[in-house]
This record gives sequence, C-alpha cells and structure tokens, in this order.
Amino acid sequence: MTYKDNLPEISIIVPLYNEVENVPILHQKISGTMKILNRTYEVVYINDGSSDGTLDALMSLPNEEKNILILNLKGNNGQTAALAAGFDYARGNIIVSLDGDLQHDPSEIPNFIKEIDAGYDIVSGWREHRVDPYFSRKLPSRVANWIMAKWSGVPLHDFGTTFKAYRSEVIKSVSLYGEFHRFIPVLVEGMKINIK
Ligand code: UDP
Ligand code: MG
Repeated sequence: MTYKDNLPEISIIVPLYNEVENVPILHQKISGTMKILNRTYEVVYINDGSSDGTLDALMSLPNEEKNILILNLKGNNGQTAALAAGFDYARGNIIVSLDGDLQHDPSEIPNFIKEIDAGYDIVSGWREHRVDPYFSRKLPSRVANWIMAKWSGVPLHDFGTTFKAYRSEVIKSVSLYGEFHRFIPVLVEGMKINIK
C-alpha cells in the first residue's frame, strides 16, 4: 500500500478564529455525519492565530482514524487566507468548506456530496434563514448577490457563504486574494464548468 492509496475521497476544511467552545461540538457533528456517509475523509482545521484555547481544543480531539489535520497559521490572517491554506493542504477529490462557529450544519454535507457525485463542480449553500441584522448585513448582501449574479451570469443566490463543496481540481486552479473567496464561482464559470 502506498501513501497515495491512503488519500481520502473527501476533505472538510474549517477556518477557526477563537472558536474554542465550538471545536468539540463541531467535530462531533462532522464525524457523526461522515460516519454515516461511509466515504473516506479527512478534516483540515485551520487555526487562524486564535488567542483563546482553539489550538489546544483541536489537539485534544480524538484522532484514532488519523484523519484530522491541524494547520496552525502564524498570527491572524483572516478567513480568506485561512481558507486558502486549507484548500492548499486538502487532499480529497471533493473539498467541502464550512465555518467553525456552528452557523453551518455539518449534517447538510451529504446533500452537497450528492450533487458533486451527480456531476456538478461547485455546490453552494444558501443562507435562506440568515441570522444577521437586516440593514447592516442582509440588505447589502442581497444587493451584492443580485449584482454579482447579473454581472457574471452565474445564477447563484448566495455568493458570500463559505458553505460550499468543490471538485478539487476546480478550486485548486483558482488563486485566492483578499475577499476573493466570494468570487470563486464567477472565476471558475469562465472555465465552463457546471454550477448548481
Ligand atoms: N475566521 C477566521 N479568521 C478570521 C475571522 C474568522 O478563520 O480572522 C473564521 C471563523 O472562526 C469562522 C469563519 O471564519 O469559522 C467565519 O467567520 P465569521 O463567523 O466571523 O464570519 P461570518 O459568519 O460573519 O461570515
Ligand atoms: Mg459566522
């Protein structure tokens, strides 16, 4: 058996900045869902310079299956940089990104995987019941999404959410700058791929 035979099918990547209390709960939810899915997987946690005990919480997660990878970034670089590091290290053919603050429910992951299996290259979550304030967050986001959809021709409801699944060759071919994670579906549309 070679190293390559051990590559997981699916990588789950999670950026974390001061999420100490969420780490054990989130991990339990992810493993519970992935166990049912019965596919090989790894979880890549990116500690983005947390000043609480996030790193310790990650280090003390049960890791019998040796499928947890912890990336510990130097200092706080922001969510986009943390995600970029995760995409870089992820080894699965399918990469699922989600937030570490429990705003994204891991039990939805199988629905994303099903669409990738069906042939889509990117599957995007949609914050249907967004729990943010209306005027400072929801309204600007709705306007931004409308403009992005018109301008790009990509019929997505929600560019901003990080809850997405990607075929790995698609995301690995896109560089991430600044707030560019929001533009990923637009950038890859230029490569003639299917978007759900
Ligand atoms: N995050 C990060 N670095 C930062 C800020 C946030 O890695 O500098 C992580 C955070 O822990 C969470 C995800 O990125 O898992 C989304 O962050 P947040 O909830 O603040 O963003 P929002 O929900 O407002 O989009
Ligand atoms: Mg959040």
